[in-house]
Amino acid sequence: MGTPTFQPVLERIAEESERIPGRGRPASYIPALAARDPRSFGMAVAELDGTVYGVGDWREPFSTQSITKVFTLALDLAREGDALWEHVGREPSGNPFNSLVQLEYEGGIPRNPFINAGALVVTDRLHTRTGDAAGELLAFLRSESGNPDLDFDPQIAASESAHGNRNAALAHFMASYGNIDNPVPALLDQYFRQCSLTASCADLALAAGFLARHGVRADGTRLLTRSQAKQVNAVMLTCGTYDAAGEFAYRVGLPGKSGVGGGIIAVVPGRCTLCVWSPGLDERGNSVAGVAALDRFTTLTGLSVF
Ligand code: GLU
Repeated sequence: MGTPTFQPVLERIAEESERIPGRGRPASYIPALAARDPRSFGMAVAELDGTVYGVGDWREPFSTQSITKVFTLALDLAREGDALWEHVGREPSGNPFNSLVQLEYEGGIPRNPFINAGALVVTDRLHTRTGDAAGELLAFLRSESGNPDLDFDPQIAASESAHGNRNAALAHFMASYGNIDNPVPALLDQYFRQCSLTASCADLALAAGFLARHGVRADGTRLLTRSQAKQVNAVMLTCGTYDAAGEFAYRVGLPGKSGVGGGIIAVVPGRCTLCVWSPGLDERGNSVAGVAALDRFTTLTGLSVF
């Protein structure tokens, strides 16, 4: 291909990551996440043709959590197109991911698809269209990653449900504005299963490939139009890392989406996709070693959207 492999750069980043002084703390709102070792670190890069490079714990499954919001957004956008944007906005919120306050000012329309309120709307709409939003998500991820063993973690889903009062409040509040179609308990069941999806860096780097291929899936068929793929990447850049998206764009310069399990996916459109995982989070909920690794990746390779 004439281009150097990503392996040496990944190895250098992994080595440097061992020297990061404070690695943050794993999410503690459910026990299964709190138990993860903050020293774990894995990173994978997938090229457009599905060649994957990886380092450290790149094949270790972890809880994907909010990273799944990118995939449900893409799957719903593919089905309903622009009509989706009448139900969810696409502006950064500047508030924590589970905030209720903006919803009242904005008539039950969440600011963007990546805060919890917005993700609930997207999952609700996908569920209406498919009858099984979580199943649709799982099938898509299995097929794009080439890993038929990907699955939900029932223990994590149960734990999400047991600690799900805030998400239930968000869903009921939006339902009161007519912005949720399904009965709230059915929607929450779908959403908690979605959050419990377990996958590795290798799986997620491959599964996000359609965003680097301008909407084209691993088998060459199209999921999104070129313009929709651009839209999803743009929303990731501006809203994908909780209320630290400005800092992430400044440091990393790529569309990215993080989850409280410590994973982050990132896209270099037209070139490759990345996934990094390390469970220790900063105060905004982004993986400390993960952001640092992506920062180093774009610095060392010069691959960024800017
Ligand atoms: N299950 C979490 C919630 O909905 C997802 C959090 C996240 O990864 O941002 O509260």
